[in-house]
Amino acid sequence: MTSPAIGVDVGGTKILGIVLAEGAIVDRVERPTPSAPSGDLGRRLDQAIAEVVGELLEREPGSRSTTVGVGLPGMMGTDGVLLAAPNLRSATGASLQAPLQAKLDRDVSLANDADCAALAESRLGVARGHDDVVMATLGTGIGGGLIAGGRLLRGGRGYAGEIGHMVLDPGGAMCPCGSRGCWEQFASGTALGRLGRDAARAGRLAGILHAVGGDPEAVRGEDVTQAAQAGDPEALRIIDEVAWWLARGLANLVAVLDPTMIVIGGGLSANADLLVGPVGELLPSMLEGGRDRPAIIVAAAQLGPEAGAIGAALLGRGDG
Ligand SMILES: [Zn+2]
Repeated sequence: MTSPAIGVDVGGTKILGIVLAEGAIVDRVERPTPSAPSGDLGRRLDQAIAEVVGELLEREPGSRSTTVGVGLPGMMGTDGVLLAAPNLRSATGASLQAPLQAKLDRDVSLANDADCAALAESRLGVARGHDDVVMATLGTGIGGGLIAGGRLLRGGRGYAGEIGHMVLDPGGAMCPCGSRGCWEQFASGTALGRLGRDAARAGRLAGILHAVGGDPEAVRGEDVTQAAQAGDPEALRIIDEVAWWLARGLANLVAVLDPTMIVIGGGLSANADLLVGPVGELLPSMLEGGRDRPAIIVAAAQLGPEAGAIGAALLGRGDG
């Protein structure tokens, strides 16, 4: 029997803390993420995380041995500093590990949230039993987590898995990271919304346009997936385009990492059935060795919005 582990997932709007015991969530606490105008979020953030953990520890009998792991939405370095966080800009550069460890009087492991989600899916979710896994988390951008040889691949400084910023077209759309044509500009929820607005402006997607009140600029990614679920041919064409780009980037990752399984998660994974099928069909034609190599399983994530917190708990107890 392993001792309970606390995992915390820090998001742009909320902080979720859970207690993981025997592979299941047995307690949880949720708080809004504090905000600060600029630069000063770091201190408030470690305090807020410590409060969430403190509340869980109080309710946990024999909590002295309870481990703590935290997932953060950005480049979380092994030096304990959050180097870049597009959804928590005012926490950029925050040193989090040392103050958290002092406040909680124990070791605290920190990592990128998508890394944590990949770890969770590979240990307790859809990729259980697979030692080599690529997980792509589709939301505003594309986050990622890589499991290689059964371990979470963190890289030399903790920044591995920033897969959304592989450049697929140097002449493509500008990305917030400063490069042009990053993968996430073609295959994220944001890309889906942009393609939807383009189509609406060009007079296609009449059904969606009607539903959003006639303004092409009001079309969002969710509207496109909804219409596609209902069988709208133009929406399905957009899904096919996103699926092609998704497969293209995944094929690049397969060339480097040779995974046996690919997991698609994130906000779009509620509609993953729309993407998983087309990606699974396209992928072999894009790979060296093509259809002669054993098939790579492509599947939707299973653990839902708690995957990040579950993975953080696993990481904290040394199961990374
Ligand atoms: Zn980028």
